[in-house]
Amino acid sequence: MSAARKRVAVVGVGTMGSQAAWRLTARGAEVVGYDRFAPGHDRGAAGGETRIFRSAHFEDSRYVPLLRHADALFDRLQQETGRELRRMTGCLLMGPAGHHQMATVLESIAEHGLDHEVLDAGTLAKRFPQFRVEDGDAAVLDRRAGFIRPELTIQTAARRAEELGAVIHRYTPVREIVPGAHGVEIRTDAGREHFDTAVVTVGPWVDDLLPDLPWEVDIRRLISAWYVPTTDAWSGEERPAFIRTAPTHCYGLPSPDGVSVKLGLSRALHRPVDDPHRLDRTVRPEELDVFTELVGRYLPDLNPDPVRLSVYMEGYTASSRPLVGPLPGAENVVLLAGFSGHGFKLSPAFGGIAADLALDGTSPRPVGFLSTLGRTEA
Ligand SMILES: Cc1cc2nc3c(=O)[nH]c(=O)nc-3n(C[C@H](O)[C@H](O)[C@H](O)COP(=O)(O)OP(=O)(O)OC[C@H]3O[C@@H](n4cnc5c(N)ncnc54)[C@H](O)[C@@H]3O)c2cc1C
Repeated sequence: MSAARKRVAVVGVGTMGSQAAWRLTARGAEVVGYDRFAPGHDRGAAGGETRIFRSAHFEDSRYVPLLRHADALFDRLQQETGRELRRMTGCLLMGPAGHHQMATVLESIAEHGLDHEVLDAGTLAKRFPQFRVEDGDAAVLDRRAGFIRPELTIQTAARRAEELGAVIHRYTPVREIVPGAHGVEIRTDAGREHFDTAVVTVGPWVDDLLPDLPWEVDIRRLISAWYVPTTDAWSGEERPAFIRTAPTHCYGLPSPDGVSVKLGLSRALHRPVDDPHRLDRTVRPEELDVFTELVGRYLPDLNPDPVRLSVYMEGYTASSRPLVGPLPGAENVVLLAGFSGHGFKLSPAFGGIAADLALDGTSPRPVGFLSTLGRTEA
């Protein structure tokens, strides 16, 4: 059977699955998607109006070529659909000048020639009055950066896939994936369907569907909190997304409607999720203490009483590198999981890689450092 005529199941049409469905249909595959809810819902890893896009990576510069590919595919999806999925407002990485993430971001900028500015504490304070700066702070402004609209992006990619011929079964949880010598069977409450290959992108539900996975994906509960400005400091022309490296790693984004500013915390501060079907979406007052402290210390022009709180889930691997590749012993089941808090910006690239792996068994993209093949990570 030619690659173009392969029948591929996409299990989980969320962040990664919607992009995989788009890229698979764009390559001529016959695609059937399944989601336990509907594309664009807010019960998993996506939701909350915004996600940061950035070109410079402070975790690992090996992501930069993938970010470039994602960048081009975001533009292509925007052109094909006429929807504004992203806005380039820049992203400020701030913190003590000697912090190791500052060094990694500068390395990735130098290695890949990325568009940026380095700002000292004085310039930072003058140009971005919305942030309080401390002695010894520095910042890097990544100019090919900004915010992505997650709900719109997922729905747009899923709709584009449907326009190109995909069938998406909404509110249809997959109960079991049964690989065999001649393909893969997908079992739902409605019956069984046979495919050449399956792409599994179930995000925080990965252990629920694949309990025997040889790698640990730690599911965490992430709180997002929105704050309203008390002064005009947030109304200037420059309203970049921001990340503060230390002493508490946090990030934030001005809301697209200009009403508020969203704040989120780093992995270390997230509680584990025992059962993704029973996510505790209630935020206790004491969970806000660290947010209140950060607002008071670094974002003094925001009212410290949040106007909105939301809770999401995300899967983390020990190395923070996602699992991308075939399941052990099942070449025709391609897994993408464990995006460890930084998957959205890369999602169109991972959708393309999922399509390559499902149709060709390999990808020309540099994903060796993420591959499930030979991966020993606990
Ligand atoms: C609060 C928060 C902030 C973040 N900020 C950023 C950021 O600024 N920048 C960035 O790049 N990344 C960010 N991330 C990370 C990014 O959002 C995730 O890495 C990404 O959304 C993960 O996508 P996914 O496809 O794995 O999961 P999801 O988007 O959750 O998709 C999984 C899908 O599978 C479906 N599903 C589950 N089980 C089944 C089943 N059995 N059958 C059928 N369907 C099923 C679900 O309904 C869901 O639609 C953030 C994450 C969170 C939680």
